[in-house]
Amino acid sequence: MTIALSQFDEVRLDRVSRDFGALNALRDVSLTIRRREFIALLGPSGCGKSTTLNCIAGLLPVTGGAIWLDKNRVDTLRPEDRGFGMVFQNYALFPHLNVRQNIGFGLKMRGRHKAEIDRKVDEALSLVRLQGQEHKLPGQLSGGQQQRVAIARAIVIEPPLVLMDEPLSNLDAKLRLEMRAEIRRIHNELGATTIYVTHDQDEALSLADRIVVLRDGVVRQVGTPKELYEAPSHLDVADFMGFRNKLKGKVIESDNGRAIIDVEGARISGVARERLLAGSSAYAAIRSDDLEAGEPGPNALKVIVDTIEYRGREFVGTAHTAGGLDVVFRSHQAVEPGASVYLRADDQRVLVFAEPIQGRS
Ligand code: ATP
Repeated sequence: MTIALSQFDEVRLDRVSRDFGALNALRDVSLTIRRREFIALLGPSGCGKSTTLNCIAGLLPVTGGAIWLDKNRVDTLRPEDRGFGMVFQNYALFPHLNVRQNIGFGLKMRGRHKAEIDRKVDEALSLVRLQGQEHKLPGQLSGGQQQRVAIARAIVIEPPLVLMDEPLSNLDAKLRLEMRAEIRRIHNELGATTIYVTHDQDEALSLADRIVVLRDGVVRQVGTPKELYEAPSHLDVADFMGFRNKLKGKVIESDNGRAIIDVEGARISGVARERLLAGSSAYAAIRSDDLEAGEPGPNALKVIVDTIEYRGREFVGTAHTAGGLDVVFRSHQAVEPGASVYLRADDQRVLVFAEPIQGRS
């Protein structure tokens, strides 16, 4: 392989902030990314994912803090002097240049010799599996092929860091899955370090070594996909990671990492994810897959069924409690809308969080 990425030990964001007028789009973001890691920046729209990526790339100046590549401060450098590879959602290919010219553009700008450009472009073409397409214009390629050209163009300059901003969001669902696997394969084959922006939890879970969850310009949690999926540390992270049911109640007791809360008279026990004071308000967060229609008993909540949908292996329903809490659940049997049923969750699958303090994240 002739493409050899520049290597380093770590990229460090040290209390990076970015304001747009009165808006603090990023607030004191600190993060260390190790060589060869695949990092996903995940969060809802407007949380600051693209701003973080653009600050790293140099497309946006930071308004506070610093960015380091090992011992070198890079946030003061121009984007071209940082030399990071960028892949955008809209591909940003030159429409009048063919595939080969698009991929070789960055090397040509850097004044490399033709023989070297040809060799590296061939290598990149083979890495993204576009041999045979090199003389086509971008307009003659499918969306997936255009995104492959964009990836080849980013990596051919042998960047220390590859930055991707929602690169798959313009592709249809099937192609998105295929390209997801391709992106991870290319990352592994090259030994690249990749920072990848997405709002899609599945994409982040399947691609990343570590996920950084952002909200309102603040890092809420950093962890492996398994840690984030199984043990979100805040209610809003749990919500974003698919804990659709958030049952509000009062803490009856909590110790040794366990908690029991009263939800409309039902005792719901689970894993305490925060310090909980008896008598205070709290939420039991439960995935809809883990809340199952069944018999009355421990950890069961009485609800009235609103809707029920057949999903092949099982049914998925919505329901509400007498107190007006809405829930989503699954069932192995068809249950009728209007029926009164008990929904049960294994206490290992229930996470209990303190009620968030308004206005404080
Ligand atoms: P999305 O998933 O919708 O792309 P995001 O998480 O990438 O969202 P950012 O684009 O980083 O969010 O935006 C963070 C915040 O900064 C938002 O409130 C956005 O409106 C604001 N913002 C971003 N760019 C600018 C700009 N150039 N001028 C003013 N405000 C901006």
